[in-house]
Amino acid sequence: MKASKYNINTLKEVPADADIISHQLMIRAGFIRKVASGIYNWLPIGLRVLHKVENIIRQEMNAAGALEVTMPVVQPAELWQESGRWSQYDEGMLLKFKDRHQRDFCLGPTHEEIITDVAKTELRSHKQLPVNFYQIQTKFRDETRPRFGVLRAREFIMKDAYSFHLDQESLEGTYQLMHDTYAKILNKMRLKFRAVDADSGSIGGNASMEFHVLADSGEDKIAFSTESSYAANIEMAEAKAPANEKTVMQSLQKIATPNAKTIEEVSKYLNIPMSRLIKTLVVKGKNVPFVALALRGDHQLNTLKAEKISEISKPLTMATEKEVFSVCGASIGSIGIVRLDLPIIADRSAAAVRNFVCGANENDFHLANANWERDTKYNAVYDLRNIEEGDPSPDGVGQIKFKRGIEVGHIFQLGKKYSEKMNAKVLDEKGASRVMTMGCYGMGVSRLVGAIIEQHHDENGIVWPTIIAPFHIVIIPINSHKSDQVTQVTQDIYTQLIANDIEVLLDDREGYRPGVKFMDSELLGIPFRLVIGERGLTENIVELTSRRSGEIQKLPLKSATQKIMEFLKVSLGS
Ligand code: ATP
Ligand code: MG
Repeated sequence: MKASKYNINTLKEVPADADIISHQLMIRAGFIRKVASGIYNWLPIGLRVLHKVENIIRQEMNAAGALEVTMPVVQPAELWQESGRWSQYDEGMLLKFKDRHQRDFCLGPTHEEIITDVAKTELRSHKQLPVNFYQIQTKFRDETRPRFGVLRAREFIMKDAYSFHLDQESLEGTYQLMHDTYAKILNKMRLKFRAVDADSGSIGGNASMEFHVLADSGEDKIAFSTESSYAANIEMAEAKAPANEKTVMQSLQKIATPNAKTIEEVSKYLNIPMSRLIKTLVVKGKNVPFVALALRGDHQLNTLKAEKISEISKPLTMATEKEVFSVCGASIGSIGIVRLDLPIIADRSAAAVRNFVCGANENDFHLANANWERDTKYNAVYDLRNIEEGDPSPDGVGQIKFKRGIEVGHIFQLGKKYSEKMNAKVLDEKGASRVMTMGCYGMGVSRLVGAIIEQHHDENGIVWPTIIAPFHIVIIPINSHKSDQVTQVTQDIYTQLIANDIEVLLDDREGYRPGVKFMDSELLGIPFRLVIGERGLTENIVELTSRRSGEIQKLPLKSATQKIMEFLKVSLGS
């Protein structure tokens, strides 16, 4: 490919609305251009990268026996009404519209309804199961805050797969196979990632795992063990129960705490660590008006965990300032669990503390040396809090650390949520009609391009893993207009590389100084750069530079093509 004919449009300036490095570099390198908020054009060089990502995914999905289909972006409301999601799907995310006959449609944010309808008509017998259909298709979600370029777009490309089974065991087999396939795909893309236990959120169902590419710019926080493969979404990670404290109970004291209302203020005023305080949160109950939650002062309530507790109303609702006053007799900053006429649910860590400080249910007073056994009682103990760095890992091996991640994949065991509602059945061995059970497996194709850049860049631009790069090598001839020899050698090597299926970009742009071409080749992230100049040719050498290491190799002219092919083979990992 000749650069003069390839519409290479690089920018020096960092675009004003691009906050993170992948977004900045994708715009500067001319891979994408914004059309509207969260909606992008992919330009020729960017599309090459997108196709590489797609093809790696396609190859591995095919190898796992999945069958490719394409389903429409425009989806009729009827199917969404059948599943119940026409009115339930995430507020505002579904872009709905009417056609000329006033029939309702939406742009597909995901394809469970369509594929279940496909399965209903195409699958009749258990002999056709298990089967896993996938597509690589455009999705539209009217995201509240589109940002970070292709990482959180409104229109984006997803690989989504859906599997159908007669029983749970078969579903678990495919789920594991998809787990392993995702790991293969991400390893091929040279990504550092973690597979984490996740909450299945609004899609519902059973087991679910997210695949996160590790990056400081990631929107998600994941907790992982320093010693084992344990990793979980922070909201999901279990906080283990610590051993009960054994210190001797001291006598209860009432102390004035004027102007100290928050946990920080009280801990400062009394000069004790926040972990010695027990805070009380009053929330709405399911069967009684209010329930008190007790947590250690240094811990944060985990809404998701609290909402799973049957005594607590869902969604979790805090009592108002006024309600708190009327049930506790004090303002929020002075309430506590001693002499409190409410059911008390204690977090595991809070239940283990002795001689703690808590509000006295009297404004501007706290109690010191309060104890569960003597001064108050909990009705139940649960894991209520967010896990913290330094906590023991829930699997008992190592300690918890946090890292940020970009969710690039998500696998679910959906169960019968859609198949039951939409009546997708097959005949089993005995001729009885049975509702199929389902799995679904998403992967963010366009998001992956951004995620790869987040892990593979330096101060000069992108550093593509060779398997993803838009071109394997760029040839930069120096002053070829003044030297027939440079022109001839360039042409020879270019032709030989193409003949060997090497993806080569020849930077033949006129009127560009070599320095500018060098900078562009670094910004674009092309793994190898071959410089052909008169000076080198007098010694019969050409110069090959590795984008990643910056290492320069002087290659003898005679064996240059051969050597380049050897290097490429190694860096492609084949
Ligand atoms: P997120 O939590 O990031 O909003 P999600 O959990 O809603 O994502 P899924 O429904 O699990 O997303 O979709 C499967 C995959 O599609 C995600 O793992 C992600 O890689 C990709 N994806 C989802 N939303 C977007 C988006 N707005 N832009 C780009 N890719 C996306
Ligand atoms: Mg998800």
